Amino acid sequence: MLSGTWRVSCPECSYEHQSAGAITMVVRDDGTEAICPEPDTLRIAEETTGKRWGELEVAGRIRKRAAQVCLSCGALDFYPLAPSARPSQGYACRSCGHPRLFVLAEKTGLLGALFAGFLAPRCPICKEGRLQRSCVSPG
Ligand SMILES: [Zn+2]
Ligand SMILES: [Zn+2]
Repeated sequence: MLSGTWRVSCPECSYEHQSAGAITMVVRDDGTEAICPEPDTLRIAEETTGKRWGELEVAGRIRKRAAQVCLSCGALDFYPLAPSARPSQGYACRSCGHPRLFVLAEKTGLLGALFAGFLAPRCPICKEGRLQRSCVSPG
């Protein structure tokens, strides 16, 4: 559900980001992380570590990072998804330290679409428009 290309934009100003919904990281033996871009994710992870994909998964060394924008400065970066209902809580913007982030790749259901106009956070740049997100191309 996180795969594909996603876009977030503001209807009131020119604020806009387009990005992969998620990236995959592999943890090297020394604990640092390497990005494994699509579509060669598996091969790059194996070449980077010299281990099989299955081994890496079992060891918890394959990590997903979801594209999120900061609701204060608007910077886009990739952060872990927490297993809670409010995924962005607990992580802060790398650029400004603001704790509220907005996940790009999230499908809004019918109800969500109805309420999106009220629930969507305000644009970090103009503070007027409500952020809109859409899937540009499914992975
Ligand atoms: Zn920020
Ligand atoms: Zn705006």
